[in-house]
Amino acid sequence: MASWSRSRQRAAIPGVRAEPVAARLVDLAGDQVCTQPGCPRATGIACEYVDRRGHHCRTAWCPEHRLVIDGRVYCRRHAGVVSALPVGYVGHTAPMPDLETRAPSLVSWVAREVDADIRELLLAGDRDSHAQLITDPVYLVFIGRDRRRAWERAWKLVDPAGDSLRVSLLVEEAADAEVAIRVDLAIVERLAPPWIIQRLHGALPPPEVDAQRRKDFNRRILSIISKGMEREGRGSPGAPGVRGAPEAALQPR
Ligand SMILES: [Zn+2]
Ligand SMILES: [Zn+2]
Repeated sequence: MASWSRSRQRAAIPGVRAEPVAARLVDLAGDQVCTQPGCPRATGIACEYVDRRGHHCRTAWCPEHRLVIDGRVYCRRHAGVVSALPVGYVGHTAPMPDLETRAPSLVSWVAREVDADIRELLLAGDRDSHAQLITDPVYLVFIGRDRRRAWERAWKLVDPAGDSLRVSLLVEEAADAEVAIRVDLAIVERLAPPWIIQRLHGALPPPEVDAQRRKDFNRRILSIISKGMEREGRGSPGAPGVRGAPEAALQPR
C-alpha cells in the first residue's frame, strides 16, 4: 500500500546531490518498520544498497529518517558511501563497495576537510607556477601484492616538463578505521581519525575537545604530506594551515 504524506518537507543534506525527479520517494510511505531507534513508524522503505557480492542492506526507513539520492532510498551509512562515489558510478555495472565498509565515505570525508590545504601545499612548492593541479574524485584502487581493495582521493601537480607529484589519501575496505597517506607511490603513514577512536572506546569528549582533536588530525595529515614532499625533493616553505571543516551531516562513523 502506498500513500502520500503532505506535511513533510524535503531535507537538505550537505554533500548529497539533490534530484528533483526523486522527490516523491522522499515522502512515499512503505510498509516496513523503521530501523531508526525509537521510531515507531511502519512506513519504512528498504535501503536499496546492494554490494558487489549481491548482499542487500537490511534496514528500512520511514519518510523522516530515509535519505534519497539519485532516485534511490538509502540508510545514512550507504547514503554516505553512494555520495562519495563518482557521478554516474551507481546504477551501472560498477561493483559497489562491501556492505559493511565505510572506506569510500571516510576517504571522501577526510579529503574534503583537507582539500583546500593540500592544494595550497602543492602549489606553494611550485615556484615557476606553470604547473597544473589535477584532482581525481574518489575511486577504487588495488594495493599491495594481494591487491587489497581501497578507495582513494588524489591530487596531482604536473609541470610543463611532464614531471608530476602525486599526493593521495586512501582507505582500505578491510581496514576502514584508518586513513593512509600516500606521496607518489609510497604510503608514508596511516592515521586513525579521532572520532573513530572515540567511538571504539565508547567515550564522547566535550565538543571543544572533539573540535581540537579534529583540527590536530587534519594538521597531522598536512604535516605528513609536507614531510613526504620534502623527502621527494619537492618541499614547500612554511607550515601548513588548517581551514574550517564542512558540515558533519554524512560523516562516516
Ligand atoms: Zn523512522
Ligand atoms: Zn543501507
